Amino acid sequence: MSGWIKESIWRDECLTRPLTQAVLTHYANQTSGAKVFATYKPMKLSLNGATTMKADLATDVRTAAAAGFDYLEIRAAKLREFLKTHSVSDLKALFDQSGVKPLSINSIEYVTFRDPSAYAQIRTECEELCAIAQAIACPYVVVVPGKFPPGGLSSYEVIEETVSVLRELASIAERHGVALAFEFLGQRDCSVQTLELADEIVQKVNRRNIGLVIDSFHFYVGCSTIKMIEALDPKRLFIFHINDAEDLPLDQLTDANRLLPGLGILKLKEMIEAFKQIGYDQVASVEIFRPEYWERDPFELARDAKAAMEKVLQL
Ligand code: ZN
Repeated sequence: MSGWIKESIWRDECLTRPLTQAVLTHYANQTSGAKVFATYKPMKLSLNGATTMKADLATDVRTAAAAGFDYLEIRAAKLREFLKTHSVSDLKALFDQSGVKPLSINSIEYVTFRDPSAYAQIRTECEELCAIAQAIACPYVVVVPGKFPPGGLSSYEVIEETVSVLRELASIAERHGVALAFEFLGQRDCSVQTLELADEIVQKVNRRNIGLVIDSFHFYVGCSTIKMIEALDPKRLFIFHINDAEDLPLDQLTDANRLLPGLGILKLKEMIEAFKQIGYDQVASVEIFRPEYWERDPFELARDAKAAMEKVLQL
């Protein structure tokens, strides 16, 4: 094991884990890391609808606006519920009136290693969500890799399958002028667990409308390292999902153990420093799946979440 890996890991458990395992103008406007570093601007702030899971989409838009967020990440399930009684034009008007912009639709789940009928459904879902994203001027749709099939696979096989699927989905998104933000998951059953592997895949896909989500929880659980951020071209990073986590062994941490930024054990300041070093200055979006928070008033929770982000991001 090389020296830098040893130095930069966060927990002993990581030592035993394998390491390999819009609108177009929105991201076209991103500048290179070298340029941005000299004129680094603060990240924009976004609320992810998972944080306020029990609130409906209209409430999420109003909540994000009241708390002063720049963006909202839309949960796909809330979107579908909203569209049962409203039109896409209603949604566009809701955002326009609020002053909050849509950042992404979250998410198309488990896009890889699916059987043919499930994959056909993924393509249909991609078409549907990208068309809605285009209509409301939402630059990104988030896509999530599948779980390992029984028996596991080599990194080569994961890369081959994931690149092929992402190219096909990126072509669908491109027709709508939308980009796909690929989010790796740190859990051991996920086929893409690290930033290093996710970035290798995104580079191999080699399309202008595909980039990454880094979620601080998954970054930690999957044993990604600060060096992996330092190796990243910021143009390939579309969204930073920010959250914290309780101090539990890695194999016991679940999404429900997420916390507001600054309340847990994640080294968010080191991550944020690394983002500054590479010149990433786009959006930090607070995404927490904590049932205890879902019982809170969403307006109060959103205010607290924004204050917690501002403190950690030193805004
Ligand atoms: Zn996330």
